[in-house]
Amino acid sequence: MAKTASGKVYLVGAGPGDLGLVTLRAKECIESADVIVYDHLANPEMLGWAGEGAEIIYAGKKAAAHTLAQDEINKLIVEKAREGKKVVRLKGGDPFVFGRGAEEAKAIAEEGIAFEVVPGITSAIAGPAYAGVPVTHRAENSHVTFFTGHEDPSKLESAIDYSALAKLGGTQVMLMGVERIAQITREMLDKGARRDLPVALVRWATTGRQKTLTGTLENIAQRVIESGFEPPAVAVFGDVVALRKDLNWFEQRPLLGKRIVVTRTRKQAGALTSELRSLGADVMEMPTIRIEPPTNLREFGELVQDAHSYDWIIFTSPNGVEAFFEMFFKLYDDAREIGGAKIAAIGPATAKRVRDLHLHVDLQPEEFVAEGVVREFQKQGAVENLRILLARAETARDVLPRELSKLGAIVDEAFAYRTVPETRDPTGARQRFLDEGADLITFTSSSTVENFLALGLPWPKGMQIASIGPITSKTARDNGLKVDIEARQHDIAGLVEAIRKFFGAEKTK
Ligand code: SAH
Repeated sequence: MAKTASGKVYLVGAGPGDLGLVTLRAKECIESADVIVYDHLANPEMLGWAGEGAEIIYAGKKAAAHTLAQDEINKLIVEKAREGKKVVRLKGGDPFVFGRGAEEAKAIAEEGIAFEVVPGITSAIAGPAYAGVPVTHRAENSHVTFFTGHEDPSKLESAIDYSALAKLGGTQVMLMGVERIAQITREMLDKGARRDLPVALVRWATTGRQKTLTGTLENIAQRVIESGFEPPAVAVFGDVVALRKDLNWFEQRPLLGKRIVVTRTRKQAGALTSELRSLGADVMEMPTIRIEPPTNLREFGELVQDAHSYDWIIFTSPNGVEAFFEMFFKLYDDAREIGGAKIAAIGPATAKRVRDLHLHVDLQPEEFVAEGVVREFQKQGAVENLRILLARAETARDVLPRELSKLGAIVDEAFAYRTVPETRDPTGARQRFLDEGADLITFTSSSTVENFLALGLPWPKGMQIASIGPITSKTARDNGLKVDIEARQHDIAGLVEAIRKFFGAEKTK
């Protein structure tokens, strides 16, 4: 068939779950996709990398509850590509290791549509590695076999030759089929595999939800039943499993399995999220607000266009700086168009954003209170008749313009952006929060407390609170909440340290 539109399909491996185990190429593809079709096993946090306008489609596949049938998925992908779109088909692990990626590739190729394959780290290797099981060891084995415990149900006979597997030995890794572990182990034993062969099952490998169950070929099925162990899991059979005794690094981490909510905006959450994750926590980023363009974008544009006619431009937040210069560089292609306007920035983060643009910050008050700003202005000379442009959020307080006007300045307010409650849930974190609850919620400012409560979500039973400092704690208490952890040092590192100590103390109790 001839090539039609210029769409293209990217069959992308999403890795086993840990966001750090995604390839750079996969991230690039997600960032620039028009359409993303993702699976149950692809970590949905990745969807946070997608562009604003990207269409995101869940293709499901929790065993039994298929959301889209395989041929529907194939059809959908082909259709979207035909529309000339860049389609990312995001699949857990590696796209060509089980999970029907090969069938999808074939369907795409048959339609004459261009495609690219982005391999991923497969759970077949990462799962054992995160459980402290190397799939090879010089002294233990010289080959590794991957097999599936869940075969095509239309096949009449099992394609897996268990007697050959038993004879082959080495390390054997099974994907899918934990539900059938009793039949599979019985079959292996019947065909002559060793009763005491070590086995490990790794559930939700590489994520904060990872759990490992170990045993032998003889007793693992019983242990699965006793502990209520559920899929998805990777099973490793072989003597290498015994190495876990010394190499179990991931499950030793202090916050393993603790489900912690991060409430900052998606853009700001990064540092806190990654520090908690590296301590083993199962972090859910649940931004409560997001930044939107101002209601009157045209008026904002006009004020930015005239920025050069002001004596001063005052920025009160990093978001204001960003919105202002985004507009500015839409209007002008030369930074010098800012003219002789001086720049004031309130707060170090705001000043940094200005400096990042290679612009000088002429005034930066030590304290962010209106009086402090006014005092700083007075230090620089008379305020009377100064023309000042104040770039700020739509709903900010009026103190600053009022005080400056009182002193005779001519102040124009440029509403650069507005903050609105985050109602979308592209990563499914909110749904997970509702379904599964959490152990701890972190508040990094008073506004995170207020915005979280404004969402009106039910408070999960037993969820505790960690606050970055006394002001945030006070806001929480004023709202009837009990603060369990307060950081001594009022920054992200201090908050993480306090959380680590808290759960550490709990463990030794
Ligand atoms: N292409 C995927 C495998 C798809 S088949 C890969 O390369 O990893 C689906 C099976 O993969 C699941 O039934 C389970 O056995 C395994 N799996 C995928 N991600 C997993 C994870 N994070 N933890 C444990 N098992 C996982």
